Amino acid sequence: MQDESIKLLCDLIAIDSVNPSLVPDGAGEGEIAEAIANYMRLAGLDVEVTEAAPGRPNAIGIVQGRSPGRSLIFCGHTDTVGVQGMTAPFDPVQRGGKLYGRGAQDMKGGLAAMLGAAAKVAKSGGLPSGELVVAAVIDEEYKSLGAENLVKRRSGDAAVVTEPTDLVIGVAHKGYTWVEVTTRGIAAHGSRPKEGRDAITSMGRFLSRLADLDGELQARTPHPIVGTGSLHASLISGGRELSTYPDVCDLQMERRTIIGEPLETALTEIEAILAALKQDSAEFDASARMLFGRPAYEIPANSDLPSMLLEAVSRAGHTTTCAGMTFWTDAAIIGHAGIPSVVFGPGGAGLHGLEEYVLVDEVITCRDALVELARSFCA
Ligand SMILES: [Zn+2]
Repeated sequence: MQDESIKLLCDLIAIDSVNPSLVPDGAGEGEIAEAIANYMRLAGLDVEVTEAAPGRPNAIGIVQGRSPGRSLIFCGHTDTVGVQGMTAPFDPVQRGGKLYGRGAQDMKGGLAAMLGAAAKVAKSGGLPSGELVVAAVIDEEYKSLGAENLVKRRSGDAAVVTEPTDLVIGVAHKGYTWVEVTTRGIAAHGSRPKEGRDAITSMGRFLSRLADLDGELQARTPHPIVGTGSLHASLISGGRELSTYPDVCDLQMERRTIIGEPLETALTEIEAILAALKQDSAEFDASARMLFGRPAYEIPANSDLPSMLLEAVSRAGHTTTCAGMTFWTDAAIIGHAGIPSVVFGPGGAGLHGLEEYVLVDEVITCRDALVELARSFCA
């Protein structure tokens, strides 16, 4: 017979929840939030559905303990990236221990594990003390409006974000900053070099220094668990037509940051390059601005969450370790709101790709470990 949490996972994959900020006609999180709220109500949780953005609700369920105590949060995002190029993104198919479909790994597998864990806890007599909060939040794939709304409404003593980690306990991860750089020239007929100034070759000079900076960042002493910072040019545009000097060139780029590097780091580095280029040539005309950023995160050393989760995983019959993750997650938002957080979820492959799957066994192990954690954390 199909495991109840895997059945739930199939139901979640079958619901289109493409992020509407990423894909203009994306279905959004309304329908999946409703399905999750219903599942939680049936399992006996107290349920709260709140709009984190217009028409885009978070679904939050609570298992109250029998006496006051610590509050543990499980958090997962309900949105997915787009499905262009996929053949049957919303048809969950199970084959050889893998469950396929958009969001299977990122992160409906983790959602099903945490919801299944809360249901098990609620149905098996609840918790001795404190409370377990399960939060299914919107918009992680874009601006994390759901997690931001969650931390405004709730506090907690620890949180597990069930993004896919191959069941490794992610105790730290990198941050990122997006910066836009614009070089300016003068538009002129291609035959009149004295009148024109080429914004694209100016950007070329900047890009060359940017590559040097990337080399320098990656040659620095790495942070012990997340490694070094890095950067890459992401998007570039400029020019009008073949016979015209380009007057503007725009670059959007990303800098991945490590713990201890504030959000302003990238802009400061880039402005230093622009100032040096201006020093070399007074005609060089450029500016930069930060578009968006999220800081890196590391759980405080005095938190007992990683060790308790390690024990919980082993009680669930699996052995794992703690490590740094390279990708950013909502754990940073929850963590920076003062709730010590880790990332822990089932493995698979193909996240954001054309063929995405999650490992069925790992969803079940993840769920069982979360049950164990809730019982020991809220003891
Ligand atoms: Zn994700």
